[in-house]
Amino acid sequence: MTEQLFKQAKDKLQEIKDYLVANNAELEQFRIAFLGTKNTIRPLFSEIRNIDNARKKEYGQLVNELKQTAEERFEQLKGGLTSAATEHVEKPDLTRSVNANNIGTRHPLSLVQEQICDIFKRIGFTISEGPQIENDFHNFTALNFPPHHPARDMQDTFFISESEIALRTHTSSVQIRVMENSEPPFRTISPGRVFRNETISARAHCQFHQVEGLYVDKNVSLADLKQTLFFFANEMFGQGTKIRLRPSYFPFTEISAEMDISCFVCDQKGCNICKKTGWVEILGCGMVDPNVLNNCGIDSEKYTGFAFGMGVERIAMLKYKVNDIRLFFENDVRFLQQFASVV
Ligand SMILES: [Zn+2]
Repeated sequence: MTEQLFKQAKDKLQEIKDYLVANNAELEQFRIAFLGTKNTIRPLFSEIRNIDNARKKEYGQLVNELKQTAEERFEQLKGGLTSAATEHVEKPDLTRSVNANNIGTRHPLSLVQEQICDIFKRIGFTISEGPQIENDFHNFTALNFPPHHPARDMQDTFFISESEIALRTHTSSVQIRVMENSEPPFRTISPGRVFRNETISARAHCQFHQVEGLYVDKNVSLADLKQTLFFFANEMFGQGTKIRLRPSYFPFTEISAEMDISCFVCDQKGCNICKKTGWVEILGCGMVDPNVLNNCGIDSEKYTGFAFGMGVERIAMLKYKVNDIRLFFENDVRFLQQFASVV
């Protein structure tokens, strides 16, 4: 009996020494088991009457040691929990990814559009914006597209009400609003989204972006247009870029031209981008048709102007060698992330 009680007390001592806790709830369980009012050490004290007289003193010391050890162990475990909590706050988690916060990238169309606007702002152009849903007058009639004129077929769009309200086909509609509401002289560019009823393919989309420019003043000439666009081409595509104008047709300009730049990829030696010609088409331009000025209440005998317009997607495709226009609108992060380093 004596030996059995000694063993029981020693086992309990070992149990206390080996006890581990992971949190405050487990610490509380320890406290209840060994230090509480109904703790498991207390019954061992009353067992002293069953111990042989010769060993009563030894047993008493053992049970006292049990109580003392339980108190010490409790303080140890409590301290361990506190320092573990402190460690968690102070020590960085070295297993975490260094790129926990992904910073987004700017869209290539925004990059190109802003670059174009910045160049023209430096030579005195203001920025004008207007509605994407336009009426017939601002999108067609004022721009010298009379009703039923075949030129309207070049810019088929999405009509919202019968032939009156439509999604704008170009940002020239913004230029009409500028001319209606202000007196010359003005130099302004109109960036924005436009829409055409086109079959979606690698080369065409039903939505795209334009930057159109307009300069109206006394004595504005073709020489002014050419020099302005020459400046733009050199700023946008690098110094030494050559330009050439080819005759073309637009209802709202007379004369009208397409502007090409010398191929910046092959330096005019001939490549796939320039289709071996050494020239790349960049924009359309011309002198504002006097009818357009008159439609907006500007005296075409007194004022002349030039206008130009370019597609932002086309320039972005050339600049970043993107071969499918649809990529700009899919917003696939694998595509967009490639522009992270572009500023
Ligand atoms: Zn080339």
